[in-house]
Amino acid sequence: MRSLEAPDLLEPALALEVRYSVVEHFYSLQGEGAWTGHAAYFIRLAGCDVGCWWCDTKASWDASAHPTASVSELVEAAQRAPTPIVVLTGGEPLMHDLGPLTRALRASGKRVHLETSGAYPLSGHVDWLTLSPKKRKPPVPEIYPHVRELKVVVVNASDFRWAEAHAARCPEGTLLFLQPEWGSPHMIEPILRYIQAHPRWRLSLQVHKYLNIP
Ligand code: SF4
Repeated sequence: MRSLEAPDLLEPALALEVRYSVVEHFYSLQGEGAWTGHAAYFIRLAGCDVGCWWCDTKASWDASAHPTASVSELVEAAQRAPTPIVVLTGGEPLMHDLGPLTRALRASGKRVHLETSGAYPLSGHVDWLTLSPKKRKPPVPEIYPHVRELKVVVVNASDFRWAEAHAARCPEGTLLFLQPEWGSPHMIEPILRYIQAHPRWRLSLQVHKYLNIP
């Protein structure tokens, strides 16, 4: 497990009242990357200033457009799901201080998986960090030592070089995935050829979209 051990700045009781802007939270299956097929509780935090043109969660960008939920409310909701895995996604979740939320989730017995572009420094305690770097706002250097899984969304052929550049910065043993952007199906064939030529990479598909589940 890699985690950022930050000092507890708030008393536990106060930390439970910290509120986050949340687009949605729901129980489903992980559809992408190394944990594909595992039941997971998803918390989609609001707010993102990265601005990918192909983003499939543009509604998440404006944090002020979404209601807030307290740490205690989110932990209670996650605890109703029997899975040990909670996925923090967005938006860009690292625009928030994840300390109070991740500490409370882990104290309740959950594993915290974080999906991030890495555009902001890591906060909080995570058990699994998936880095999905974006060209419009590349990862901050201090994120790389914490990466367990690199998942590069491929939109065009230049993304293969982009993927290799990030793989070179991730720790030994990082799982490497190439994932076709949903609206760029013409890239599936080049991705398959690339993986066959460079078999340390694996294919990630957005299985939840094929299954039409959240
Ligand atoms: S980083 Fe993620 S949420 Fe933000 S614009 Fe890009 S794809 Fe969308």
